[in-house]
Amino acid sequence: MTQTYLAQPDLGFIAQLRGLGGDTLKKCYQCASCSVACPIAPENSPFPRKEMIAASWGLKDRLIKSADIWLCHNCGDCTDLCPRGAAPGDVLAAVRSAAITEYAQPRALAKAVNDPKKLPWLLGIPAIWIAILAYITMAHEDVMTKLFNVFGIAWSHAHEGAEHVIAQADFFSTWFVDLTFVPLATAVVIIFALSLKRFLTDIHENAVMEKKTDKKNLDYKALLQSLVQVIPRILKHEKFNECETNKERSTPHMMVLFSFIGLAIVTSIFFIVLYVFQTPGPYSQLNPVKWLANIAGVALVIGAGLMIKSRLDNKEQVTTYKDWYILGIVFSVGITGMLTEMARLAHLEWTSYGFYYLHLIAIFNLFAFLPYSKMAHLVYRTTAMTYAEYANRK
Ligand code: SF4
Ligand code: SF4
Repeated sequence: MTQTYLAQPDLGFIAQLRGLGGDTLKKCYQCASCSVACPIAPENSPFPRKEMIAASWGLKDRLIKSADIWLCHNCGDCTDLCPRGAAPGDVLAAVRSAAITEYAQPRALAKAVNDPKKLPWLLGIPAIWIAILAYITMAHEDVMTKLFNVFGIAWSHAHEGAEHVIAQADFFSTWFVDLTFVPLATAVVIIFALSLKRFLTDIHENAVMEKKTDKKNLDYKALLQSLVQVIPRILKHEKFNECETNKERSTPHMMVLFSFIGLAIVTSIFFIVLYVFQTPGPYSQLNPVKWLANIAGVALVIGAGLMIKSRLDNKEQVTTYKDWYILGIVFSVGITGMLTEMARLAHLEWTSYGFYYLHLIAIFNLFAFLPYSKMAHLVYRTTAMTYAEYANRK
């Protein structure tokens, strides 16, 4: 007997997609040119034509719970060929944005990150928090020294007896850096873990329902093995290189990805050097880890700058507030980091502290709102690609 599928359109979801840059979705007249253009469309499944039907009918569950929307890397080839200007690439980007909001908890925070009216709060709260801690660092060194002595810990991580050295730790204690960002990073990991558990369960159910896999259950050990196979492909940007229309996005995207990897390595090494080997910064410019930091910082500024330029130049491509927010934050992290360093080397103490203050606010935004911003696509796309590998997606 044929199974009946009861379509339950969600008008709110259609409105949400329109607000996220998918306002062309109703223009589609199902010609399937996009499925011919799409490099990831399987032979027997008209991707993304089928997704365009689901979007125009507001079939939220079908779209949000599909791993396929994450396999699309927004190459834009389908949008280029669409005779109706329905921009399927942009509609899928809107679906992915909606999926990030759907899976991240708390939902209110996810909505705030997508709302330009909330931006003053997103910037203002860390600005106040960091200003308070900077004030304590600079004005209450004696109190903090006594307080830390109670626990037998040294308060200051700045170079002692070397007043000519400008150290960011004199403006904002490294203890406060770590007491702010380590719990923040831990919270982000927990939020992602909970979101991904739901996400994996949903995409697996969807794949079973749509007969895209013959796997019955989720095997986490096998998933990890698939992850190991997928990571080199992500690092090499293999999918990006298949693009025609947006091919030039590959290099800046790669620069940003590798600079974040480089900066994560630098931060981890200096964390160990500080707390294990008790050697505070600033570190010599001749130090190879410092070279890596500087190269990664420059690559981040150039990569993010090129991404912004590409968005400004390409009037055809939809760029939403969510895109500008994350591009602005990533660029700010890079440029304020480099300016902090340059002002320090130029012996401009307070200028360096000013840039460092802005740098910390930008980093706070990047970290704290990672599960809700467009940056989360890195995690969801990696998971979906891993699942597709594991499930032998048909
Ligand atoms: S999105 Fe465009 S190309 Fe794809 S089926 Fe619809 S009208 Fe055709
Ligand atoms: S943007 Fe590229 S990958 Fe995504 S659906 Fe269109 S053609 Fe396929």
